[in-house]
Amino acid sequence: MRLKRLLALVAGLMLTAPPVLAQQAPMQVALTMDDLPVHGPLPPGMTRAEVANRVLAAFKGAGVAEVYGFVNAKGLADEGDDAAQVLALWRQAGYPLGNHVYAHDDLHGHDVAAFTAAVTADEAALKHYMGDADWHWLRFPYLHIGETPEKRREVAAFLKDHGYRVAEVTLSFNDYIYNPAYARCMAKGDQAAVAQLRRNYLDRAAESLTIGRQQAQALYGRDVPHVMLLHIGGFETVMLPELLSLMKAKGVAFVPLAKAEADPIYVPNPDTPSNGTGSLLDREMTARNLPQPMHSADPSTWLDGLCR
Ligand SMILES: [Zn+2]
Repeated sequence: MRLKRLLALVAGLMLTAPPVLAQQAPMQVALTMDDLPVHGPLPPGMTRAEVANRVLAAFKGAGVAEVYGFVNAKGLADEGDDAAQVLALWRQAGYPLGNHVYAHDDLHGHDVAAFTAAVTADEAALKHYMGDADWHWLRFPYLHIGETPEKRREVAAFLKDHGYRVAEVTLSFNDYIYNPAYARCMAKGDQAAVAQLRRNYLDRAAESLTIGRQQAQALYGRDVPHVMLLHIGGFETVMLPELLSLMKAKGVAFVPLAKAEADPIYVPNPDTPSNGTGSLLDREMTARNLPQPMHSADPSTWLDGLCR
């Protein structure tokens, strides 16, 4: 009788144990940062190099071993030495750079030849700062991978010929949308408004982790190694330490991009039905007619009106 009860208890534990373990398994996230060296308006007195210094200090402080920085080399032509320092600092920190297309060129609405020329135009800067290290990762501007299968196949063939892999994204909360409001609120000295920005940013960051996991479960019946899209910018100097703490508190383990993208979900398939917009998980959900998880309202209109 006692044995039976023990067996029942063990069976019960075996039934309940896997979901508990699954919940506690660390969420793997590769961090990536777009739009180096120049993105968005800065608060008064801040330089691009200072943004880079603070952002890099936050990553290092959280013990993040690798963060790919995706480069629009046009920023070097636009802002000179200050911008050049951003890329130099990134490399001094031991972090790699990848291609985000010369002038943040949009594949959608333009032909493939114009787009691939802009990809190539970005390479001189990557070679300069990366030397012999590997910079053959492409992050599509606006996450636009091509509106049609034909276009996606054509770009995929170019990228393959030139040794590129696509740096897909599974987690994004449009962190860049806070920069203009932050610069205005700092210029006005409106600390109450900045506090509102901080709260909204962190709520939406936390929500993006939940949504990414929900999408992975719906699509694959398991969590997957994720890739988070962040953007360099003024507000990230404030928020990045808090974001990284929040992620650690939620059990996130930071992994390199190549490790995350070794998962089979990242094998590209240009023929997946899609309008070529959104994260990899967004596109897959659409292709399979799965309902998108609930998410909070877009704060863009509120942000546009803040600190005017
Ligand atoms: Zn970008």
